[in-house]
Amino acid sequence: MAAGWQDVVRDAAAVREAAAVAVDAALLAGVLMRTGEQPHSSDVVNYAPFTLLPSTVPRALFEQAYAVQQDFNLLVDAISQNKEFLEQTLASTIKVDDFTARLFRIYMQVLEEGLAQTVFLGINRSDYMFDCGLDGKAALRQIEINTIAASFGGLTSRTADVHRLVLKVLGKTEEASHLLPNNPAKGLALGIAKAWELYGSQRAVVMFLVEEVQRNIFDQRCIENELWNRNIHVVRKRFRDVFEQGSLDASRRLYMDGQEVAVVYYREGYVPQVYDQQNWEARLLLERSRAVKCPDIATQLAGTKKVQQELSRPGMLEKLLPGHPEAIARIRATFAGLYSLDEGEEGDRVAATAIADPDRFVLKPQREGGGNNLYGEELREVLEKIKDSPERTSYILMDKIRPQPALNYLLRAHSPLQVSECISELGIFGVYVRQGQELVLNEAAGHLLRTKAIEHADGGVAAGVAVLDTPYLV
Ligand code: ADP
Ligand code: MG
Repeated sequence: MAAGWQDVVRDAAAVREAAAVAVDAALLAGVLMRTGEQPHSSDVVNYAPFTLLPSTVPRALFEQAYAVQQDFNLLVDAISQNKEFLEQTLASTIKVDDFTARLFRIYMQVLEEGLAQTVFLGINRSDYMFDCGLDGKAALRQIEINTIAASFGGLTSRTADVHRLVLKVLGKTEEASHLLPNNPAKGLALGIAKAWELYGSQRAVVMFLVEEVQRNIFDQRCIENELWNRNIHVVRKRFRDVFEQGSLDASRRLYMDGQEVAVVYYREGYVPQVYDQQNWEARLLLERSRAVKCPDIATQLAGTKKVQQELSRPGMLEKLLPGHPEAIARIRATFAGLYSLDEGEEGDRVAATAIADPDRFVLKPQREGGGNNLYGEELREVLEKIKDSPERTSYILMDKIRPQPALNYLLRAHSPLQVSECISELGIFGVYVRQGQELVLNEAAGHLLRTKAIEHADGGVAAGVAVLDTPYLV
């Protein structure tokens, strides 16, 4: 907690007043979500959860995270074009993990047929925590990079205004003026618009591939509206719509009921539960098409936890980004300890170390979306059970990051106002566009700060654990 906020936490009346102002400001600014009770309609909505106070973030680490984003864009794009690396890296994983195997099969199938897609659009979010060392100094440590459906770039474009107002209400006008502007929605839309333009058909639309249950629709609308502002036509479809209405012509242009699609922006498709046989067929159809997929299947695979772990092996970044020693140094400086549990001596040793000292680590399966990781006693139990079976290769092991907690209030509809010890996770949005071999756009597009109470080891905003926040640089 910044020295400046201590006085706030002690003043219960001021906190209550500021919280009421904050909630109304969030509603006015459009920091919204559909409710759990009525997830299919916007008739009833509420504010998306957020912190009362902006959380402090060390300025140097914030700048470091921005400075490495273009390097990460370059790296993800390079991995997505490196068949040998993806094949080797995922070989052990796809033997035991059905979901990754299915994605990989589509990847191979599409390569065998030959890519029709010539324009590539990447939107990712690299997430970090601030690891507090024994000397009390914080270091930037990457948690993961999300290469599909990285969300909250829309809603977070509106949280800085809310926090600016809250600080003013609390008598902190000077501090309020230091909050940075932030507009990922605009940056992401710019990337989508560029891909749409390079695809080269005025009549073609951008298709948001959305979930069956769209509680976070307002986050997506922020990006949609930016596209409409540029006179780009947007449609929202689900996998099952693609199964029913989608087709390819002779040059593999994608049509939805006769309407050509230039860009497919996935906000769905990263968890196995979504895919029945029809949805897998729809996914294959999209991947085979000429449309710009964001991400294409190769880029989705580049975002797996297994790939992340292999990147930390000595010499691996040098192989993937030859001729970029400075980018490599910036990337490597953000890595936490990552360990393979593949079968063999190395994996045996790693498993034994984790079982002996589980609190030092996080055990991660090849899943996205929060709530899948294992910690502490649970980690030990699971590893004990699978340590001699090939199943262990579906996980990776990672050093646990230990940020310094700070006091804040997590504002959630229908929840009491209470102070919590919190930790934050900073995400930087990256966007890039490649045409053939030429990278025509490579940018950092803004940031997202998410904060949660320390009693939750895992879980994001959508999972109901973390809340939206704004960094206050110190
Ligand atoms: P997911 O794909 O499910 O988002 P993450 O790797 O981002 O998977 O992990 C989910 C959450 O678990 C993170 O948001 C963070 O709160 C926590 N977490 C993940 N890795 C670590 C780590 N190494 N140390 C501490 N917490 C972690
Ligand atoms: Mg995550």
